[in-house]
Amino acid sequence: MKVLVDIDACQGFACCMMEAPTVFDLEESIGKVVLLKEHPGEELRDAVAAAVRACPANALALEG
Ligand code: SF4
Repeated sequence: MKVLVDIDACQGFACCMMEAPTVFDLEESIGKVVLLKEHPGEELRDAVAAAVRACPANALALEG
């Protein structure tokens, strides 16, 4: 599984971080998401899928 981030679309709402805090962080100085794990383990699939759904900017996608 691979997490795709459209950094231009990200508006720093941090919803992704709430859903999967070990995968997403927020770089507060620029107001953009930081991907901590590009290839999270299967145990994080539900949390990452929830983060993708929760992103108001449609900036996240899950591949694989
Ligand atoms: S939820 Fe979406 S817009 Fe908000 S920080 Fe995460 S990727 Fe960016």
